[in-house]
Amino acid sequence: MSNKLDTGVKNVRNVLRYTIGNGAVNELPKLINYHRENNNKIIFFLDDFFYESHNIHDLIGAQKNDEIIFISTLEEPSTEYIDKLIEYLHEKNYYNPSAIVGMGGGITMDVAKAVSNLLTNGGKAEDYQGWDLLKKPGIFKIAIPTISGTGAEATRTCVMINPKTGIKLGMNSDFTVYDQLILDPGLTKTVPRDQYFYTGMDAFIHCIESLNGSYRNEIGDAYSNQTISLCRDVFMSDDMMSDENRSKMMVASYLGGCAIATSYVGVLHPFSAGLSVVLGIHHCLANCISMRAMEEFYPLEYEEFWKMANIQKVEIPKGVCSDLSSKQYEQLYQSTIVHEKPLINALGETFKNALTKEKVIQLFRKM
Ligand code: NAD
Ligand code: ZN
Repeated sequence: MSNKLDTGVKNVRNVLRYTIGNGAVNELPKLINYHRENNNKIIFFLDDFFYESHNIHDLIGAQKNDEIIFISTLEEPSTEYIDKLIEYLHEKNYYNPSAIVGMGGGITMDVAKAVSNLLTNGGKAEDYQGWDLLKKPGIFKIAIPTISGTGAEATRTCVMINPKTGIKLGMNSDFTVYDQLILDPGLTKTVPRDQYFYTGMDAFIHCIESLNGSYRNEIGDAYSNQTISLCRDVFMSDDMMSDENRSKMMVASYLGGCAIATSYVGVLHPFSAGLSVVLGIHHCLANCISMRAMEEFYPLEYEEFWKMANIQKVEIPKGVCSDLSSKQYEQLYQSTIVHEKPLINALGETFKNALTKEKVIQLFRKM
């Protein structure tokens, strides 16, 4: 890029500590016991995939008075949902737990981040949707990703949909970054293949968008290049879910999260957000569907994406926007064009000239 722009992210905060390896999750009981002060409780947020897992209490080292909350992944988190969780915890007198654990995918890790922030900062989730609005650090928090790609384990945000405003925005703050990560590739063995691909591609897409943009950070670029290289190893190979590849993908997710924390996404993510807000399609699948319309913006990466989907024999839904009402097309346009920062990153200040309403609708029709 000849004319790089300053991202404005000056003094970057990373996750404080991480441990990585097969079986790393067995260290959780020891790690949280350091934080059991004054007999305070630990709150565990677990992806509801683990509900059926009979040895889960032993695995996480839960004690009698700890609180375990299973998080449904049918819908992505809303600000209302986070507020309800806080109400529930207050009713049980859990104002100041010793630690919070988020074990699952992006949804569960984001819920744990948001709850940790709200317990100490007070107020409602929507009060902190934006940049640097939190005043205090949250409760000490540990993430254990069980699917790889979003980078939620590394980033300074926790994405929530605000049903009142229709805006999908997180609590962007240094206080949102996890204090401890446990990266155990053994945990991703059970992820369904299609989901593994959709979520894995989030890491690839974050980084191609960031490297093609104008707002840049040298360390962010290095993280992005390494993330893309790992994703190629994984998704161009015969078996994206081999032991070695699941381990590589866990690293790619973490590095991709570090990359995106210092840069911005591009054209694809705003379109994907439109699909999520208007049609309720989950983030990572919505990204893959949006890729159908990205050839003119990212020609090389577009080729590569479809090659990887073919090699892995993953079906990406087609025609999701072919037959919508004019009101829905209008909503899709509005919820795409609202994402100014990434669109400026990709297309410059005059992005609205390139993305007229007709053009945006035509692109959605390609999906
Ligand atoms: P997810 O939390 O949506 O889960 C996807 C599916 O995988 C669910 O059905 C879940 O039950 C299942 N699953 C998870 N682990 C499993 C396992 N080990 N075995 C079997 N099934 C398993 O997953 P995601 O794609 O990682 O997260 C998407 C969310 O992340 C969205 O809400 C998105 O907005 C958010 N996100 C956040 C950030 C951030 O920086 N905070 C970045 C990108 C996306
Ligand atoms: Zn994403």
